[in-house]
Amino acid sequence: MERTDITIVGAGAVGLACAAGLSGAGLEITVVERHDRFGRETSSRNSEVVHAGIYYPAGSLKASLCVEGRRALYDLCRRAGIPHRKTGKLIVAPQESDLSHIERLKERGEANGVEGLRLLSRDEVRRLEPDVTAAGALLSPETGIFDSHSFMAHLDRAAEAVFAYNCALEGLAPAEGGWLVRIRDADGESFDFLSRVVINAAGLGAEAVARMAGIDTAAAGYTLYPCKGEYFRLQARGWRRPERLVYPPPTEISLGIHTVIDLQGGMKLGPNAFYVDEIEYSVDEGHREEFFRGAREYLPRIEEEDLTPDMAGIRPKLYREGEPVRDFVIRHEADRGLPGLVDLLGIESPGLTASPAIGKLVAGMAREALR
Ligand SMILES: Cc1cc2nc3c(=O)[nH]c(=O)nc-3n(C[C@H](O)[C@H](O)[C@H](O)COP(=O)(O)OP(=O)(O)OC[C@H]3O[C@@H](n4cnc5c(N)ncnc54)[C@H](O)[C@@H]3O)c2cc1C
Repeated sequence: MERTDITIVGAGAVGLACAAGLSGAGLEITVVERHDRFGRETSSRNSEVVHAGIYYPAGSLKASLCVEGRRALYDLCRRAGIPHRKTGKLIVAPQESDLSHIERLKERGEANGVEGLRLLSRDEVRRLEPDVTAAGALLSPETGIFDSHSFMAHLDRAAEAVFAYNCALEGLAPAEGGWLVRIRDADGESFDFLSRVVINAAGLGAEAVARMAGIDTAAAGYTLYPCKGEYFRLQARGWRRPERLVYPPPTEISLGIHTVIDLQGGMKLGPNAFYVDEIEYSVDEGHREEFFRGAREYLPRIEEEDLTPDMAGIRPKLYREGEPVRDFVIRHEADRGLPGLVDLLGIESPGLTASPAIGKLVAGMAREALR
């Protein structure tokens, strides 16, 4: 039977970053991906924002991996010529009553080590962004945008791994010296091999992978609740597109409907957030008014007809609305009696920004498991 040292399930940004993090040490790495190429799911359906690390509780993986990942990501973008721009971002307080919220966010961001945060008055906001109206704002100069496709293409090229595209993981069983891995290709043919370590970076499929490995996912707190986020394209007619990203104060389940500037000069609004039972990516035109009303709070000159449906992504959340917000789960399952299995679940935002740091952390766990 064929053998490999490490199998990574999923070629999204996180699986690719794990492969890159493990490269260069002479290990045999196999990346198994059910689609015909990398980044066909959540990693290509998001805002492509390099988050600074403001929102997340101090000491959480989301906070520390976002700050570390952001620094590593900008560095990689510069070195590898990956298109990016440090646009900066405003988290606006539409009303006076929102000001205390952004003050708390500043404290939280500073506790997380985010550089350069500054509170702006109403006039300062107007001077920076003439068509944005707010009672005040938090300026985050470190936030930016990047080309996530070029980033993943770079990792795909740089990783010293065998990529098994069009191959879905369909079985995982503990075996002598590791794991028996069963994959099925696009022709329906199954193939078994042995892997010393398995890294579950399957995004929306990560709960199913953990279940294949024998974990009672409900008891482990690994149930995933898909939460959709839609985008509408926004045309600036008769007003100036903001130079910086503009966000409202966040809610419990999302960062709020914000402006998304792309590197080509286009602009979107999004994402909203609602739980779904099915993975499908259509955009409901009926949500246009919700977007318009949300954005008009801080962009008073927009018109509803400036909005056209664009695309959607789905967050693999570990909590439902009203439940406490959960951190990323990144753990070696040795203490569950499953040595050699590293599970990653609930890798929602800021997973893209954090991916280089997640790759480094998981590479360390996998090397430890190989000892
Ligand atoms: C609307 C939205 C906006 C976001 N905006 C941002 C942002 O601006 N900045 C930011 O930092 N983060 C953002 N995020 C979060 C970010 O996109 C994700 O955290 C990140 O892309 C997760 O990457 P991943 O590799 O874990 O998952 P994915 O990209 O989903 O990759 C998982 C891969 O596993 C594969 N897979 C699953 N099951 C199997 C199986 N059984 N066999 C083989 N392959 C399998 C899938 O096909 C997929 O390719 C956003 C997310 C959403 C939904």
